[in-house]
Amino acid sequence: MTSKDHLTKRALVTGGAGQDGWYLMELLLARGYHVFAQSRRPVDLSLHGGQVDWAIGDLTDEVFLNDLLSISRPDEIYNLAAVSRPALSWDIPMETALLNGLVPQRICEFIRHESRVTRLFQASSSEIYGDSSDQLQDEQTRTNPKSPYGISKAYAHQVIAAYRQQYGLHLSTGILFNHESPRRPLGFVSQKIAHAAAAASLGLTETRELDERGRPILYGGKLYLGDINVRRDFGFAGDFVEAMHRIVQSATASDFVVGTGHTHSIAEFCELAFKVGGLDWKRFVEVDPLLLRKVDSHFTRANSSKLQSELGWSPKIGFSALVNMMVEERIKVLKHTIAPTDTED
Ligand code: NDP
Repeated sequence: MTSKDHLTKRALVTGGAGQDGWYLMELLLARGYHVFAQSRRPVDLSLHGGQVDWAIGDLTDEVFLNDLLSISRPDEIYNLAAVSRPALSWDIPMETALLNGLVPQRICEFIRHESRVTRLFQASSSEIYGDSSDQLQDEQTRTNPKSPYGISKAYAHQVIAAYRQQYGLHLSTGILFNHESPRRPLGFVSQKIAHAAAAASLGLTETRELDERGRPILYGGKLYLGDINVRRDFGFAGDFVEAMHRIVQSATASDFVVGTGHTHSIAEFCELAFKVGGLDWKRFVEVDPLLLRKVDSHFTRANSSKLQSELGWSPKIGFSALVNMMVEERIKVLKHTIAPTDTED
């Protein structure tokens, strides 16, 4: 070990193979961190220039989790791993409770007993508010989660606040509102729209990639969606990981709402996405009543003024640039994967 190794900060990113993990690890490596990351799946070790130390295993396995924390000896932990889709959490509610709720508490226990100087960032979620009637949601908004996902995130959120207060540890949360990017998995509505719009702009009427019902995402020239009037505060993941890093560097640990403060409907997302290829979204998008959710957060809008005033954070990428970026990236991906015969004449 060289003397420089003592100065290099060590960060552990759980759920490192997910959307936010990608952007966060790029940021941490650029800032000189030694980065450790966890995933359940084997990963391509050459990603991120081969500079990340990966540990493959399940965080709900206590032995694996303790080994991961002991071996990586992180100065900073970014706990991003989660069952991250509220809809999916209804299918696996117990796994959701364990991974999203108890694993963060186990990490707190580790810090409390083994490494009190380690700082924690916990990815909390606007889903802890449920269907809030407030026009803007901030750190004081009442939690009223409506899904196993929201409930598990609310549990972790409150555990972290309690441990912070009880033990004086540097444990923070970011109450993250929707954030998207070209790295968003296809299971999320934003990426589904981007993918369908990209496919349509290339003249496809059907995609190989399937939706949650096992049907092509673009099927017979149509994209089937649930409630297109739902309004969300959509930000860019690259901006959000900057917020995560600032939160951990803050002198005082706390909870911070992270969002843009602007809302857009799913219909607006569709309109912009299809416009990239010069198409009218109304010709392609159909509402499928079977996709309407009984329980959904219909309106989210973040008040991030605490994060802006205390830590100087503000988002750089607006809604229209975000949608454009996602569709253009999907066009590139599709161009690489489709055979010439897939497109219409
Ligand atoms: P992703 O779904 O892209 O990544 C989360 C990662 O968690 C997955 O890549 C997966 O990694 C891991 N994971 C999923 N299920 C399990 C499981 N059952 N057991 C163990 N690991 C699992 O999410 P994001 O990067 O978008 O989000 C990061 C965090 O921010 C999450 O905690 C999410 O809940 C939270 N958040 C995100 C929002 C958003 O809009 N993106 C909004 C609010 C909160 P692998 O399969 O490699 O193990």
